[in-house]
Amino acid sequence: GNTVRLNAIKDVEAYVPPAVSFAPDEAPGEIFGTNVFSKVVMQKRLPKSVYKSVVATIEDSAPLDPAVADAVASAMKDWALEKGATHYAHVFYPLTHGTAEKHDSFLEPTGDGATLAEFSGKTLTQGEPDASSFPNGGLRSTFEARGYTAWDVTSPAYVLENPNGNTLCIPTIFVSMTGDSLDHKTPLLRSQQAMGLQAERVLKLFGHENPDRVVSYAGPEQEYFLVDRHFFLARPDLLNAGRTLFGSKPPKGQEFDDHYFGAIPDRVLGFMMDTERELFKLGIPAKTRHNEVAPGQFEIAPMFERSNVASDHQQLLMTTFKRIAQKHGMECLFHEKPFAGVNGSGKHVNFSIGNASQGNLFLPGDTPHENAQFLVFCAAVIRAVHKYGGLLRSSVASASNDHRLGANEAPPAIISIFLGDQLADVFDQVSKGGATSSKEKGTLMIGVDTLPNLTSDPGDRNRTSPFAFTGNRFEFRAPGSMQSIAGPMVTLNTIMAESLDFLASKIEAGLAEGTEFNVVVQKVLEEVISNHGVVVFNGDGYSDEWQVEAEQRGLKNLRTTLDALPEIVTSEAMDLFSKYEVFSEREMESRYEISLEQYALSVAVEAKLTYEIGSTIVLPAAVRYQTELALNVSTLRAAGVEAATEPLTEVTEPLTALREALAGLRTALAHEVHGAFWEATHARDGLLPAMAAVRAAADTLEGIVADDLWPLPTYQEMLYIL
Ligand code: ADP
Ligand code: MG
Repeated sequence: GNTVRLNAIKDVEAYVPPAVSFAPDEAPGEIFGTNVFSKVVMQKRLPKSVYKSVVATIEDSAPLDPAVADAVASAMKDWALEKGATHYAHVFYPLTHGTAEKHDSFLEPTGDGATLAEFSGKTLTQGEPDASSFPNGGLRSTFEARGYTAWDVTSPAYVLENPNGNTLCIPTIFVSMTGDSLDHKTPLLRSQQAMGLQAERVLKLFGHENPDRVVSYAGPEQEYFLVDRHFFLARPDLLNAGRTLFGSKPPKGQEFDDHYFGAIPDRVLGFMMDTERELFKLGIPAKTRHNEVAPGQFEIAPMFERSNVASDHQQLLMTTFKRIAQKHGMECLFHEKPFAGVNGSGKHVNFSIGNASQGNLFLPGDTPHENAQFLVFCAAVIRAVHKYGGLLRSSVASASNDHRLGANEAPPAIISIFLGDQLADVFDQVSKGGATSSKEKGTLMIGVDTLPNLTSDPGDRNRTSPFAFTGNRFEFRAPGSMQSIAGPMVTLNTIMAESLDFLASKIEAGLAEGTEFNVVVQKVLEEVISNHGVVVFNGDGYSDEWQVEAEQRGLKNLRTTLDALPEIVTSEAMDLFSKYEVFSEREMESRYEISLEQYALSVAVEAKLTYEIGSTIVLPAAVRYQTELALNVSTLRAAGVEAATEPLTEVTEPLTALREALAGLRTALAHEVHGAFWEATHARDGLLPAMAAVRAAADTLEGIVADDLWPLPTYQEMLYIL
């Protein structure tokens, strides 16, 4: 028999999860933020003037005063040493899915054989890691290996605990020597600023004289799978690619099996309590709950925060989950589609904008005056999503998310907006206000009491829309579970900046002509609805009819990553991002290049793994079984017993198919192409179909080969024995 899989099953059954090790009377409120160099900590430890200066940077995006950096660094160092930190690290987010950090010891030699803990303002605010091993898409020539990190003062520093030593972590941006961004954070901060400026312009038009800085907020809902680590380690595909490349799905109906809910919660709950506690210490406002869609699949949704902080926290959340899951003998899978045929994972990003004095700008107020303001912000979203739907689609494009988008379980690749009955009706009325008689127009005009009140229930939820209004925010449902939320947030902020700029300019122009404010606003809203209303769709996004209708409406349907990525290098996109100084054209081109490379690379890794596992694990198991059957036939015949050959034929056919498919995949792997676009094209059109053929034959064999010979843990086992 095959021992790897059978041993894994035994080990899983024998496994005793660790006890959750914290005091039962520990109040979550007491540990929240204890490892964060927060405003509260700063207020206690910094001279008043220094504290004020730092807060001004955080709240109003004032540049950080270099004179205060030394004082902040010194206080931060003392605090971190008290927390047991021995090292500090500039943490940054390179253009992969990961987090990068370079650790340095606080200790510096004094020259007389002793050491002293040192940490200056300059070390706090700026670092110089080698940039050469991070994706740069042609931005960096080999002789300029250096990159710079710079502290993002708006995202607090924190101490990361580890049984082997604690580290002070400083969230930073990461740029090349020439100042080009090499990370996710730099454009996020730039886009936040661009959107804020335009939103403030609109607020001024609505009579708010000196509005506070407007920022965007993000509340990401993270879906993930947990599998026992014994199974994980017995699956080279899960280990190396984060998803299964082989495995037939469990019989239909089993996804909702009762056993699952009965058997698992204790162990998962222990894991959840442990992770929540870790997240709380880091100031991440977590709330956890089960997800009932697939066995072994769960979700966590922290409270929304300013988008750059939410984005950092989201990265930290993923690394924390991975770490704590391992402590509990499990692996946390963030891949969008770890198990074919089983519901995949997404990361819904709830998005809103607002500031301290006006609050959430997507909140429908109850006075008509505020409604008008709300409708303008809403119209900006509608226009932005219509005009730049292709860009939004490209912001969620990856090899792994391709398995999910449009697969009738996640939103389709077509970007549309769901407004809900109430809001759709309001915009419908707005659009008719200009077309009919003046009396009707009068009653519907913005600023008049008859405008519907929007504060009540937002109406039905629609789970099939990629972009849905949910009462006080928009929920972008297309982002993948594995990706950083920074990319989608950059796109959202930038397209909002452009839309708000457009609307503010229109209103200003109308006012300059002497038209009354309410009339101008009504006209502008009407125009937006008539030009961009086609992006509003309240029906079933999973239906085939929608695919047809969307095409008639002229909405893009960018099915694969390769269809979506060119959107980021259109002249329209280039103009947009350079106008708002979020990306230079060079940066856009480099990002396009990097995305293509990453796509090609991840498919190539999977293709090699498929070949390896297919030929060294699956094929030998099938051959053994075939031999066993052949021996059985010849032994029976030798004994003069009639022997049926059907079972032998039944295994031989898919075995032959597997051999042929493996040969095909080998040919595809050997096929050489040059240039990122062609490599990505070959990955999609050459490698993926060849892999699918191998898998189809192997999955057929899984249903035929004797169970004790089957080498890979099955879906059934991985999803049900947790
Ligand atoms: P649901 O499953 O109904 O979509 P959840 O409670 O799982 O809702 O998640 C909702 C997410 O939306 C949370 O992260 C929450 O903090 C976030 N959220 C709530 N209000 C806002 C807002 N105004 N802006 C951004 N995110 C928000
Ligand atoms: Mg949701």
